[in-house]
Amino acid sequence: HRKLLDCGTLDVLQHKSCPPDVAELPLAADLCCAIQQHQLQLYYQPQVSVSTGKICGVEALCRWFHNDYGMIAPDKFIALAESVGIITELDFWVLRRACQQLAQWRSQGVNVPAVAINLSSVNLTIEKLPELILEVLHENGLSTDDIVVEVTESGFVEKDFAVKSVINRLFACGIKLSVDDFGVGYSNLSRLQHLPAMQLKLDRSLIEHIDTNPVAKSVSEAALLIGKSMQLQVVAEGVESAAQCEILEDLGFHVIQGYFFAAPLSVEQLEQWLAKQ
Ligand code: C2E
Ligand code: MG
Ligand code: MG
Ligand code: MG
Repeated sequence: HRKLLDCGTLDVLQHKSCPPDVAELPLAADLCCAIQQHQLQLYYQPQVSVSTGKICGVEALCRWFHNDYGMIAPDKFIALAESVGIITELDFWVLRRACQQLAQWRSQGVNVPAVAINLSSVNLTIEKLPELILEVLHENGLSTDDIVVEVTESGFVEKDFAVKSVINRLFACGIKLSVDDFGVGYSNLSRLQHLPAMQLKLDRSLIEHIDTNPVAKSVSEAALLIGKSMQLQVVAEGVESAAQCEILEDLGFHVIQGYFFAAPLSVEQLEQWLAKQ
């Protein structure tokens, strides 16, 4: 994969996989500098184990603090990073930063069991992906037990042989894969059943109405059973209320993540949250 580009250059646009909107060009140029100018920051959202009631990990979520526009949410810039060809730099910056942070927490005795990072499916085309991830873990004195790599469901059901091979080698290296946003992509169940993953994350849209709509509840239960039948740990994301939480616990979900416990938090906020637990 290509090295970071010079700040301010739009060279990157020549490598685009799908052209960004003209209106987005200035933002695309800014995004190229954002990493170097330390405008990206990670927020961490706690994930709570239903069986213990304790934190079992955090998900690292990227934020962009732009000089003129303030905080920009990932929904606005991940697709842009993909289209201008800097998603590899971005995701690897996130991986490094999250691993450094976890190593720092460990050295400070702060109990964060594991950190999950989001990886764009674009990066599944990098042949040396498993080796590159292992290298970052090694640099930070961490092991494959310490991280989870989340890829959206549609990224997994790729037919491409090279991508399949990367996914299989990630699994063989012991890198734990999580199927993110399950239930909103095109769920090819026949291909999903052979997924080399350890976790299934049900999309928030499947959780949203479980406390008010019996059909929604049944559908989320069905999705849970699919995950369990594939021996996967099943996570409910976007849980916002005690009522939803109680239903998910009764249904037998393994892990719960959402505003009900905590929103994505800055490092300082997370440390305060942990101290209160
Ligand atoms: P995701 O991986 O599915 O992350 C969950 C999203 O749901 C996050 O949005 C989180 O803030 C939000 N969320 C969590 N709990 C709740 C809740 O209870 N209610 C509601 N309404 N929302 C909740 P966020 O941080 O805006 O990220 C959006 C997406 O951007 C992520 O979805 C992920 O796909 C992508 N993303 C974020 N950081 C990265 C990154 O470093 N690399 C890549 N490739 N993608 C990233
Ligand atoms: Mg995720
Ligand atoms: Mg996602
Ligand atoms: Mg998700």
